[in-house]
Amino acid sequence: MSSIHPRVGVLALQGDVREHARVLSGLGADVTLVRRPEELAAVDGLVLPGGESSVIDKLSRAFGMREPVRDAIASGMPVYGTCAGMILLADRITDGIEGQQTFGGLDVTVQRNAFGSQVDSFEVDLAVPVLGDEPVHAVFIRAPLVADAGPGVERIAELEDGRIVAVRQGPLLATAFHPEVSGEHRFHRLFLDTVRST
Ligand code: GLN
Repeated sequence: MSSIHPRVGVLALQGDVREHARVLSGLGADVTLVRRPEELAAVDGLVLPGGESSVIDKLSRAFGMREPVRDAIASGMPVYGTCAGMILLADRITDGIEGQQTFGGLDVTVQRNAFGSQVDSFEVDLAVPVLGDEPVHAVFIRAPLVADAGPGVERIAELEDGRIVAVRQGPLLATAFHPEVSGEHRFHRLFLDTVRST
């Protein structure tokens, strides 16, 4: 649907829901906090927030949201996942908890908590050419990494050592870091552009 005020949801089961909602509203989106299938059915794009992917996974099953989210992804809904949200979008994960599932959609293997316990959090300036020349100040918090990406996956940001931290595949966008906490709005703008053009 083409609109200057795209209707988008933030999956609101756990995690930094408000931070995403604030950024999206600031960019002119009409934002719904999504906890139920009816709420998902009323939006044209969805953000999967940062938080704890194993908890969001369990709650999504308890709330009957797993299949609706999977169906939405399969039908081409634009989805943007940050950190835990990136884990939830991955077709394959390593270092999940016992029985942990993902929604899937992105042809990647994501390693959960990839930076280990010594380096819990760090910040770095990243080149992200699809967003322009200005680097992205990226905040990583117990972050995952894309360990492996299929041929249809665009690698949109890498650390200096080449490890992949942001990807795009059709209408799906995922970052291992949290633009919503650092005043970086260009990823959300890119997501909203995708929603408008879908
Ligand atoms: N380590 C968390 C997980 O496994 C992700 C952390 C985050 O979203 N900041 O889901």
